[in-house]
Amino acid sequence: MNKIELIKPDDWHVHFREGSMLEKLVPETSKLYNRAIVMPNLSVPIINSKQALEYKKKILNFSENNNDFQPLMTFYLNKDISTSDLIEAFENNVVFALKLYPAGATTNSSKGVKDMTEIFHILEVMSNYQIPLLIHGEVNNDKVDIFDREKLFIENELIKIIENFPNLKITLEHITTKFAVDFINQSSKKIKASITPHHLVLNRTDMLAHKIKPHYYCLPILKREEDRKALLEAASNINQKFFLGTDSAPHDLKSKETSCGCAGVFNTINSIQILAQIFDNNDKLDCLEKFISINGAIHYNLAKNKSKLLLKKQKKPIIFPDTLNINDLNIKVFRPNFDVFWQIEKEKKLS
Ligand SMILES: [Zn+2]
Repeated sequence: MNKIELIKPDDWHVHFREGSMLEKLVPETSKLYNRAIVMPNLSVPIINSKQALEYKKKILNFSENNNDFQPLMTFYLNKDISTSDLIEAFENNVVFALKLYPAGATTNSSKGVKDMTEIFHILEVMSNYQIPLLIHGEVNNDKVDIFDREKLFIENELIKIIENFPNLKITLEHITTKFAVDFINQSSKKIKASITPHHLVLNRTDMLAHKIKPHYYCLPILKREEDRKALLEAASNINQKFFLGTDSAPHDLKSKETSCGCAGVFNTINSIQILAQIFDNNDKLDCLEKFISINGAIHYNLAKNKSKLLLKKQKKPIIFPDTLNINDLNIKVFRPNFDVFWQIEKEKKLS
């Protein structure tokens, strides 16, 4: 097989950042994806409809290369969110979901949630209105080893949330472990998970052996090879509980290649091509469309996209740009540890 036609995909987890970054990042996503769930962890987190609307307007200004592009906005879950503003925002399609960051778990998350019970009144409303809860599923506790933080979050926090709110629609985002895969497989259909391209491609040895690779450093951190294999298995599972969220999270080169570097991988530009290659390398190409274009839409009760992408396998490996340059910022483009031959040929509108 050297050609595939796929329903145009959606990115169910992306960081657009602010200022000049926003202007350049949005068209990269809207070129490849028709919808994207936009993360709210800006330097001033988005917690109300006024902020979400302003941010959405800016995003739509920069996505003119795709008239179908829909940014799906999120609030940064925090005990001070007004439930009346939330309900109004949800009913008017201003907000699509709420994002839960345990305080301090990742970039700009210092205002996250410290004690889950302090947001139970908001989860109650979300459950009643079927507003999705998106979770960065890691405990942030210095006493917990960084490789165990996802497992402990599931055991100590997620199970508590599910027990209290069995009807809440939940996405455990960017899962990284076999433990999380097994948990999702055993959970109700209300709880599903997203997986990033880089966690399907890399394990922690790729990042740490021989020489350290700061551009492979992300949170949740890469895990063992057995975990990567479980994620790949999950991504092609017929139960359709897993879908793509790129977690494309750019930082300037200077903040990555330093003595105290930031976590995040920028993969938007070549995400689909890399995924086609890794699915192909594992004889799972027939499962790719469900993972990138269908499973997420089903989870979020949205229609499938109406346009298609045609991908063609080239004879020679594709050379992707090394960096995306934005004024004086340089963002390293994610590079997998294998050659990529799948390229996007063209887009086709369906009538
Ligand atoms: Zn993220």
